[in-house]
Amino acid sequence: MDYSELVEIYEKLSATTKKLEKRDIVAEFIKNLEDDELRIVIPLLQGKIFLESEGKEIGIADKLVIQALMKLGFSKNEVLDEFKDKGDLGLVAEILAKKKKQTTLFRRELLNVEQVFYSIRELADVSGKNSQTRKLNIILELLNSAEPGETKYITRAILEELRLGVAEGIMRDAVAQAFGVGKEVVEYAYNLETDFGEVACIAKEKGEDGLKNIKLEFGRPIKVMLAEKAENLELALEKAKEPAIEIKYDGMRTLVQKDKDKIWLFTRRLENVTKQFPDLVELCKKNILAEKVILEGETVGIDKETGKPIPFQELSKRIHRKYDIEKIAEEIPAQINFFDCLLVGDKQLLEHSFEERRKEMEKIINPIKGKFQLAEQIKTKDLKSAEKFYNQSLDSGNEGAMVKNLSAPYQPGKRVGYMYKVKPEKESLDLVITGAEWGKGRRANWLASFILSVRDGETGELLEIGKMGTGLTDEQFKEMTERLKPLIESEKENILSVKPKIVIEVGYQELQKSPNYKSGFALRFPRLIRVREDKNVEEADTLERIKRIYRGEV
Ligand code: AMP
Repeated sequence: MDYSELVEIYEKLSATTKKLEKRDIVAEFIKNLEDDELRIVIPLLQGKIFLESEGKEIGIADKLVIQALMKLGFSKNEVLDEFKDKGDLGLVAEILAKKKKQTTLFRRELLNVEQVFYSIRELADVSGKNSQTRKLNIILELLNSAEPGETKYITRAILEELRLGVAEGIMRDAVAQAFGVGKEVVEYAYNLETDFGEVACIAKEKGEDGLKNIKLEFGRPIKVMLAEKAENLELALEKAKEPAIEIKYDGMRTLVQKDKDKIWLFTRRLENVTKQFPDLVELCKKNILAEKVILEGETVGIDKETGKPIPFQELSKRIHRKYDIEKIAEEIPAQINFFDCLLVGDKQLLEHSFEERRKEMEKIINPIKGKFQLAEQIKTKDLKSAEKFYNQSLDSGNEGAMVKNLSAPYQPGKRVGYMYKVKPEKESLDLVITGAEWGKGRRANWLASFILSVRDGETGELLEIGKMGTGLTDEQFKEMTERLKPLIESEKENILSVKPKIVIEVGYQELQKSPNYKSGFALRFPRLIRVREDKNVEEADTLERIKRIYRGEV
């Protein structure tokens, strides 16, 4: 297929923000494609050159694309000026390519989608000596063979900036529409297949039956079953109907696949982390007593001194590590806690009850305390016993408890009320507002985002820790704007700096380490609880307290 055909679709998709229109455009385009084309065109429409499980990134920086554009015969200033003006190298490439076209007379051969797809994939594999030059040559070859309108999308694809708005839901609906199958079955198939290109081929060849019959496969991750949040234990016990309570470990959800002596480890985000956890691979090889099995567990980082779990942020250092893997495995030892079993031998267990799946799992795991364990579980409907278990879980440094329905099957990719998480509310924080941003649209006259800071207890310096834009009613936005207006010190590109006078109590979902803020921490989803009229800035929370909360000491 000519790349220009795909570019036409890109243009149509870019011209609308409406989901249904996007779905129609995609469905109409894919419905007559051959399998080979579907496998390429679908990822190119999603702007996703690699599957998550391939663990590859194109990894091309703006700088290299700028160099490529200079090689096409433009001065650095020309390229940079356009870039400054447009802020999108795709547009810059198009504009420059148009200029160039006026000076070149010959017509090149047409580019096809395969060439574009495989050349971009090749960029990720170039490494070692002269890799930058080789990458530059691949980019140049593509840009040289492209028409101006094509260079725009090639450049964006290379920079992973396609942003066509074809999200998972739209692709699901488009595949369903194109091949006359139900959305739910497409979704079910996608949750097991995790590749819309394949799902589309199956929908086209085998229809709904084919989609329903997709099996778990080794080497391929799935979208795992999700948990719902319960306000408290009592409600969780009630909702789970036939409850089992487990420790909620704070770590990395891990899909473990074993096919004879081959092991795969995948995260909830479908990344293949087998190489990053050689210690777990060894443990799995020795202590899973079945030839073929697919399990789920939570991998937790362990403090070498105390043997207690450490915050997930620490363990996450191991997830993307590409070098010194053995060394970091020594520094941050991992413990796995298995909690589900999806396949044993040739038997798929998704339809089986959780109770049966757990029993199968107990048969095939050889537990090693502190390293390779079954998630601790009790079966009870009694609130007192459940509370005792929950408190013990927290005391041992875990996040809370999971309450699961023993009679429920496994539903990939869904939050279906078969398991509930119960966690204590995080300590709220009293923070100082040190900046703000004007809102947009309906909120253009109000301040709509507030920059929050903590106090360095020793120096008194205020250090940014996050931005809050939710948890306020319209009234509160207005009120906060009125309070802050007289405190404005300076304004730069919509961002205001304000005199630190107002202290607010803030709730949040998670406290994370972050290089983006001066405090070294960031709050996930901060929300306003109330204005602390009773507190002045000197009484706001300190960085020391933040550190203690992060270490789990508060
Ligand atoms: P959350 O990430 O807060 O939505 O909580 C759900 C997550 O808890 C799951 O995705 C797992 O990674 C994790 N988890 C920890 N312990 C368990 C357990 N015993 N059973 C199921 N999930 C668990």
